[in-house]
Amino acid sequence: MKMFKKNFAILTICCVVLEIFGFGFLGLKARALAFETINEGVLTVGTEAGFPPFEYVGEDGNPTGFDIEFIKAVGEKMGLKVEIQDMDFNSLVASVGTKVDVAIAGMTVTEERKLAVDFSEKYYDAEQCVIVRENSNIRSSSDLSGVTIAAQLGTTGNILADEIVEKYPETILRTYDKFNNAVNDLRAERVDAIILDKVPARTFEKIYKDELKTIPGDEFDFEIEKYAIAMPKNNPALQNAINNAIAEVKDDGTYDKILDKYINADISSDSKGLWEQFVSSFIESNRFVLYLNGLLVSIEIAVFAALIGLALGMVLALMKIAKNRKGKRPIFSYIADFYIDVIRGTPLVLQLLIMWFIVMQSSKNGILVATLTFGLNSAAYVAEIIRSGILAISKGQMEAGISMGFSKIQTMRYIVLPQALKNSLPSLCNEFISLLKETAIVGYVALSDLTRVANQISSATYQPFMPLIGAALIYFVVIKLLSSLVKMLEKRLNKYDIC
Ligand code: GLN
Repeated sequence: MKMFKKNFAILTICCVVLEIFGFGFLGLKARALAFETINEGVLTVGTEAGFPPFEYVGEDGNPTGFDIEFIKAVGEKMGLKVEIQDMDFNSLVASVGTKVDVAIAGMTVTEERKLAVDFSEKYYDAEQCVIVRENSNIRSSSDLSGVTIAAQLGTTGNILADEIVEKYPETILRTYDKFNNAVNDLRAERVDAIILDKVPARTFEKIYKDELKTIPGDEFDFEIEKYAIAMPKNNPALQNAINNAIAEVKDDGTYDKILDKYINADISSDSKGLWEQFVSSFIESNRFVLYLNGLLVSIEIAVFAALIGLALGMVLALMKIAKNRKGKRPIFSYIADFYIDVIRGTPLVLQLLIMWFIVMQSSKNGILVATLTFGLNSAAYVAEIIRSGILAISKGQMEAGISMGFSKIQTMRYIVLPQALKNSLPSLCNEFISLLKETAIVGYVALSDLTRVANQISSATYQPFMPLIGAALIYFVVIKLLSSLVKMLEKRLNKYDIC
C-alpha cells in the first residue's frame, strides 16, 4: 500500500510540475491570451474549418481560407488581433457571445438564426447546389425522389434537404458533422447526392475531378443566400464597428485580393499512392507535430480527470457503503447512489455538451470544462470499482480492527481501504485507459485532441485513410505502453505486499 501511495503522490507531483512548466493547464498561460475579450484587443472568432475554400485546415494545421483572411483583415481595421476557434458548425450560433465573440463560417443569414444572433452586412452572395457522382442520373428536383441525400447538420442545405424529404417521403436524408465525410460517403456510393453551397461544392468537384459533378441550384429552384458575420444580439457598437471595417476592407481592395486568392483560384488534386498519402499526412509541413500536440491534449485531460475521478470516486464509494449506528443507510448514501446512477445512465458526450453549453456556459476554457466533465464522469465508475474492492475484504477484518482498539474510520483507512485499492488497481487502470480513449469526443468543445487532429488532417489532405489509421496506431501504442506499466506496477505491489 505504501507503494501505491508513493506512486500516487509521485504521479500527482509530476502532473503539477508538468502543468506549471509544461502545458499550462488551469492557469492556462498560453491559452488565456486566446480568450481575452474584445476590450482586451482580441476578437475570438468561431468557424468550422471543413468548408473549403471559405475555411479549411491549412498546411500548418491552422484554419485558413477566404473567411479567415477576411475576418483577420476586418479585425485589423478594428485594431483587434483575431483568434480563430474551430468548432462544429451546428454549435456556432449557440457559441456566439459565450464561447466566441463572433462567428464566420460561410454562414447564411436566416430568419431563424436572427432570433439568436445579429448579422453584419452581407459579404458574399451564395447559393445551394447539388453534388452527385459523375455517372449519376440525378439532374433535377424530381430525380431526388427515392434516393439517399446528404447534408451537413444545421446548414441551410440541411433545411432544403428536409423540404425535399417532406415532398418525397421515400427519399432518405443522412446528416453529417463535416461535409468532407459526406463527400467520402458520396464517393463510396453510400449516399447519392449532397446539398451544399455552390463554391465549396465546386471545390470538391475540382478535387475529385473525374468522380463528382455539381448541378446548379436553379435546376432545383434554390434561392440566393447571403453570407454574413454572426455576432451577439443587441450590440450596435460592435455591429457598426464590424460593418465599417467590412466597408473599408472592400474599399481598399483587400476583399478582391482575398477573393482572387481563394474563390477564383484553381484547386486540383491528383489521386495519391500510399507512400504519397503517408508523406502528406505525417511528414509534409511537419504534420506529425500536430498529432503529438493532439496526443498531449488527450493525455492532459485524461490524467487530470483521472485524479479528480479517483479522489471523488473514493469519497462516493465510502458514502455509498456508509451505515449509521442503527445499521441503516444515511441520506448521503442515497445521494451517492443517485449521482452514480445519473452519470452512468447518460451518455458522456451529452454530459460534455451540457457542461459546455449550460452549466459552464460562460467558460471559454474547453480544457477545463472537458477535464471536469471527464473527472465527474469517471468518479461514478471509480466509486463502483472501489466499492466492490471494499466489499471483497472480509467483514472479519473490520471486526478485528475494532477489537484491536481502532475506530471504525481508522480501520477503514489503515486496513480495509489500502487492500481495496490494491485489489482495484487493475480495474482503476482500465478506467484510465478508457478515459484516454474517450477524450476522442472533446472536439465538441473546440479542442484539438488526437482524433480531431486526424480528422482535420484528413480534411486538409482529402485522404481519410492515413490520418485515421495513424491516429489509431498512436492510441494503440500509448495504451499498450500504459498496460505494460500497469502490469509492472501490479508485480511490484505484489512483491511489497504488506497486507
Ligand atoms: N451556408 C450554409 C449555412 O449557413 C453552410 C455553411 C457551412 O457549412 N459552413 O448553413
